[in-house]
Amino acid sequence: MRRESVSHRGFIDADLNDEEGVSFSSGKSKLCFFCLERPAIECRRENAHEPDELRSFMFPKMADYCRQQQEAAIVKRLSSLAQQAILFEISLSPKPGLVDKFSNGSHSDMNYQTFINSTAAISPWFAELVQQGYSYYDSDLTKALPLIRNIGLRMESAMYEATQNINTQKGIIFLMGLSLFACGKLFSQTDQFAIEDFRNIIRGVCKDLVKNELTNESKSVKSHGEDIFHQYGLGGARAEAESGLATVFDFGLPLLAGVAELNDEDAMKCFLSVTANNNDTNILYRSNPGVLENFKELCKKALADFNDQSYSAVIDFCQSEKISPGGSADLLAVTIFVRSVIKTYGKFGSEDIKP
Ligand SMILES: [Zn+2]
Repeated sequence: MRRESVSHRGFIDADLNDEEGVSFSSGKSKLCFFCLERPAIECRRENAHEPDELRSFMFPKMADYCRQQQEAAIVKRLSSLAQQAILFEISLSPKPGLVDKFSNGSHSDMNYQTFINSTAAISPWFAELVQQGYSYYDSDLTKALPLIRNIGLRMESAMYEATQNINTQKGIIFLMGLSLFACGKLFSQTDQFAIEDFRNIIRGVCKDLVKNELTNESKSVKSHGEDIFHQYGLGGARAEAESGLATVFDFGLPLLAGVAELNDEDAMKCFLSVTANNNDTNILYRSNPGVLENFKELCKKALADFNDQSYSAVIDFCQSEKISPGGSADLLAVTIFVRSVIKTYGKFGSEDIKP
């Protein structure tokens, strides 16, 4: 039996000197990391172990250590990028119908501070989502969904606690949760971010999601999402996820592809490109398909000729119709996140982004 309880183990023996060149020691005898039976200094002096044996013992351990360090750095970085993307979206001002720094938009039960509190409450779980992806080895990706949802439910509880029971971020918890998981899974296999691989992981996790969760006719009490699906056949965030975030990649990201430093104007244009093409179920829930079509048309116009006036027209429309494109806001946050991940770990070359 090897003794595992000794905390000081020698792997590499180095003599340390102080500023005057006088050698000093920790005074602790270190156990040989290989045999874990005798002091390392004895094994070394007696050449107790074969060099080849030592090499094949230590190299995998060193590789493992480096992998762990790399994983920890990536988990930290991705968590930070997710938080930054969400905060950027919340802070983008002004925004049509949505809560921003200066207005509550079409909302009476939440403000900027509610979103700051909510974001602070859910952020501690970002790392766990990435780690979940890192440690997921099952070839059947659909089995990952309950694991991601389990973390998501804990995030929702934290959100409700921080907002006094207001749903501020259920949508982004779902979409960012999937994105962080997919990044973790991807980076467990490669150190470069590739869009199609990322999308395929999300598609795999969310395979048949709309069919499985929104087409259940027998349920008497339906969620907002189920209601909208039955009325209009639109799958909202679930359909977006099942498509591998089609709106993000087809309409959001191309608007940010050439942007060196993210700024409000480019983020607004990106948002308009998303809203002009997204059948936002948050809008439908508060209105009807006619209003949604008019909203999309107005966004399209504002994007084609972007200026204060055209952007204000979209804001005014949301105010008068009392609508809020919350689903599109989530997609903007995810777009900003993906852009940051590509900037950090991938390339914005022609292979990845087709404007
Ligand atoms: Zn030894």
